[in-house]
Amino acid sequence: MGQGQTRLRLRALELLKEKGPQSRAELSRSLAVSRSTISSLIAELLAEDVVVDLGDDPLGTKQAGRPGVRVGLKAPQGYFVGIDFGRLRINVAIADANYRIIDQLSCDFDIDIAAETALDLAAESVETLIAHTAIDRRAIHAVGVGVPGPVDAATGMLHAGSILASWVGADVPGGLSRRLGLPVYMDNDANLGALAESVYGAAVGTKVTLYVLLSYGVGLGIVINGQVFRGSSGIAGELGHIVTDEHGPLCRCGSRGCLEARVSILALAKALGTSHGAVSPDEMLRLAGEGSTGASRIVADAGVMVGRSIGDLCNYFNPELVLIGGELMRAGETLLNPLKDAMRRYSIARATERVKVMPGALGEQAEIIGTILFAGEQSFKAMAGKSGTSAPAAARTVLQGSD
Ligand SMILES: [Zn+2]
Repeated sequence: MGQGQTRLRLRALELLKEKGPQSRAELSRSLAVSRSTISSLIAELLAEDVVVDLGDDPLGTKQAGRPGVRVGLKAPQGYFVGIDFGRLRINVAIADANYRIIDQLSCDFDIDIAAETALDLAAESVETLIAHTAIDRRAIHAVGVGVPGPVDAATGMLHAGSILASWVGADVPGGLSRRLGLPVYMDNDANLGALAESVYGAAVGTKVTLYVLLSYGVGLGIVINGQVFRGSSGIAGELGHIVTDEHGPLCRCGSRGCLEARVSILALAKALGTSHGAVSPDEMLRLAGEGSTGASRIVADAGVMVGRSIGDLCNYFNPELVLIGGELMRAGETLLNPLKDAMRRYSIARATERVKVMPGALGEQAEIIGTILFAGEQSFKAMAGKSGTSAPAAARTVLQGSD
């Protein structure tokens, strides 16, 4: 092996250690060598069992060998924790530094409880997971947090005037950081779902992907050339609060007829109450999946409303891919077919003729995987900033724990 090759090999391994898993394309850009040179180097490292292809990992995707698929060190150092706050559930996961989930758990809660109580509950769940996996907490690099509300891109905190009324003013990252003694980074849940799909899911290697999260809330993550687009201050993607009917139901944001107020799975379950009595969102989704008349109608109508908004978005963004995530996707084609029809009807034909609309590849795991990826990205950036290497320091506030 020539000297140049040895140097390249060392630099590639160093990069994987400092920045976490990388795709062949990313490595080729960072090391300023051709894709074919990187491909043969990675083939060598794979054969020697020094690195692993993360394409067919426990995240459930089967894409090994695709150019966007990342490779990581065989024995990466340390762990990341993810916390995803849904409206009625907290999901918590712990992963290795190649973002492979080792263990996860979820607990019920209500996002309308006081933020401090929610943070206690989340911290307790993380402690349970740490104890259960017997992982040395000193080896945990960072915690990523997803919330169903807009996160200020400058401060990394919930936007003032956030739609999470009982959480306004609460320092979620700081509060979790103090409780856990770890650095904490936070983002909007749909952005994190979009991030996960763009790294490990269906959006790998796409130019423009819209990730639409249809759950207890409605969210949108916009991925442009592999980067999540957050707008000038982090509000980009508040799809749930575009007004679709000014005489519609009052929304939690204080406006009327927001898309979320009409198609959140809670709103749909409530609407089904008229014909079926009290029905939980899970039950409503099950009935819709089985083709039960009332439930199918409600879900199909929701598909039309969402599809119309997606049609508008296609005119703005000209995406090649629209991914639908969240629990409402359990209704399958009952949701997807009317959604696609409405999207086409309410957009410029050229903007939607080639758009693929499909469920996200990571399903309901997308958001929690996104929290882990975000923790990794921000943590590796912060470490690079500290050690004075070329990578920029974290653009968002770096909230350190009591370490
Ligand atoms: Zn609203």
